[in-house]
Amino acid sequence: MAIIGIFGGSFDPIHFGHLRIAEEFADAFGLSCLHLIPTSQPPHRQQASTSDADRLAMVALAVADNPRLRVDDRELRRGRTCYTIDTLTEMRAELAADSRLVWLIGADSFLNLDRWHRWESLFDLAGLAVACRPGFDLDRWQEQASPALTRQVLPRIQSLSVTKPGEAGTITLLPTTPLAISSTAIRARLAAGQSARYLAPAAVLDYAERRSLYRTPP
Ligand code: ATP
Repeated sequence: MAIIGIFGGSFDPIHFGHLRIAEEFADAFGLSCLHLIPTSQPPHRQQASTSDADRLAMVALAVADNPRLRVDDRELRRGRTCYTIDTLTEMRAELAADSRLVWLIGADSFLNLDRWHRWESLFDLAGLAVACRPGFDLDRWQEQASPALTRQVLPRIQSLSVTKPGEAGTITLLPTTPLAISSTAIRARLAAGQSARYLAPAAVLDYAERRSLYRTPP
């Protein structure tokens, strides 16, 4: 039985914070494959952000040597604002009925989940895994979550040691290695003419340099 993972993000650019939680997620669930899905930018952000083609190319470079990670351009191909609910529905329909779909987000995204489009229906389609992110204490998530989010999440939390981890409707808090890296900080460093070495794969940073990305402050 296949267990397929999904990890979406703006990846502007992709960095070691993303890649490390992706790898630990794949190990924890024994994933056959993890789809990294660059998200389409909402129209009001498109002007300010890196092109879809460049973000996609950087993700492809970052995962080129990792057979478990796969770049998936489905949201960019749709070419309009795309919701996670649509992506999960589409992927669920592509998979065999006995395959499991597990979706990864960082702790900051998790605490904002109740602002996502049709967020309560997301749980019907996939299991959710939440990775640690410095600045967001997963052990004390309830102190930062809204009452609506807490109501949905509490009964769904399960540990990794259950027989079928990542079943649709469940939520697993993953103790991933905390890495305080963000795309925002990388963009700021590059715009200030500083090095971003060791924050993202060399191939990604070389690409950004060749294409003169992130040279100017936002
Ligand atoms: P930006 O700084 O531009 O907001 P970001 O670094 O937060 O970007 P995104 O592409 O927006 O990266 O994030 C995609 C997903 O990865 C989100 O679910 C986010 O929570 C998670 N994520 C990003 N960086 C980390 C990190 N260092 N540790 C854990 N999770 C992370």
